[in-house]
Amino acid sequence: MSLKKLIHWSQSDFKELPWRKKRTLYGTLVSEIMLQQTTVGTVKNHYEKFLQKFPDLQSLALASEEDLLIAWKGLGYYRRARNLKKISEHIFQNHEGKFPSTVEELQLIPGIGPYTSNAIIAIGKDARALAVDANLERVIARYFGLKVEKGPKLQKYILELFHANKIFTDFKLSYRALNEALMDLGRTYCQARKASCELCPLKMDCVAFKQQSALKYPLEKNIKDKIKEEHDLHLLRILVIKGEKILAYKKSEKEWLSGQFEVPTLIISTTDKKLKQYPMLDVQVDLKELTRFKTGITKYKILNSILLADQTSLKKLGFKIKLEWRKFSEDQANLSTASLKALKYILDKNV
Ligand code: SF4
Repeated sequence: MSLKKLIHWSQSDFKELPWRKKRTLYGTLVSEIMLQQTTVGTVKNHYEKFLQKFPDLQSLALASEEDLLIAWKGLGYYRRARNLKKISEHIFQNHEGKFPSTVEELQLIPGIGPYTSNAIIAIGKDARALAVDANLERVIARYFGLKVEKGPKLQKYILELFHANKIFTDFKLSYRALNEALMDLGRTYCQARKASCELCPLKMDCVAFKQQSALKYPLEKNIKDKIKEEHDLHLLRILVIKGEKILAYKKSEKEWLSGQFEVPTLIISTTDKKLKQYPMLDVQVDLKELTRFKTGITKYKILNSILLADQTSLKKLGFKIKLEWRKFSEDQANLSTASLKALKYILDKNV
């Protein structure tokens, strides 16, 4: 009964989301990849424009990287855009352009994991599947009172229960609607640090609500493991500017932000001794007066210090990766976010 209420609430409050107006397997692939690590509000502003530019698999598979990155601008995490294109190319070349229509087939495609494959089938095809990410695992753990440590273990456990027909049994409504409603709930009333149970359509049947302990689910990871996973990283971002051009290098396949251009960057210090993303700075630099800003990527909390330099001093800093001049006024879509931020600080300072 609660699930019916939940679906009714979701369908009346969120029917305007652009990716819910017309659902296709391709459209669901695009929206799901966009929604990873990006808020619904941001994706709302980009989804339709992106689909106008690349309305189907073929147009995306044949797109140039430059056009793709321009269309992706504003969504961040450009690796996802490249991944999306690779997936389209793979389907276009290996499935004669026909979108695979089972979770198993989709999971054989590089770049598609358990969450995305289940989301495509549940939402794009309205078939029996459950797309379990951090939001869904939280809602489901609370609703059923599952006492399993959050993360991959819990997600695996939920899928096992689902496939063994131990949760959402006798569910006769739409799986598309179920997945979307659970996603909506995780984003609104059933958040990680705040549960507005009084407003929630599921409250009558929710175990966590009955126990008055919503925030105790899902079980936290061991604190030691959590600390182990996070690292501090202090980077030196070196800006060599000539007119409207800046020296930068293209990140390789194995590096963060692969394919994007980044200003010369050196590691000043890090708590991760195994990190190989940038060369180490091994000359003395006076960091006291440098402008700083913070960013983050995966498990790294990054402090960026910006150094304005010329080519001679860059050489003395020991940066050996091959660089090229990039016209930053025309090339912003290809520059990494941190490089752009550093550039903006320096340009604003010199106005
Ligand atoms: S009743 Fe509370 S804990 Fe249960 S699903 Fe709703 S918001 Fe989450």
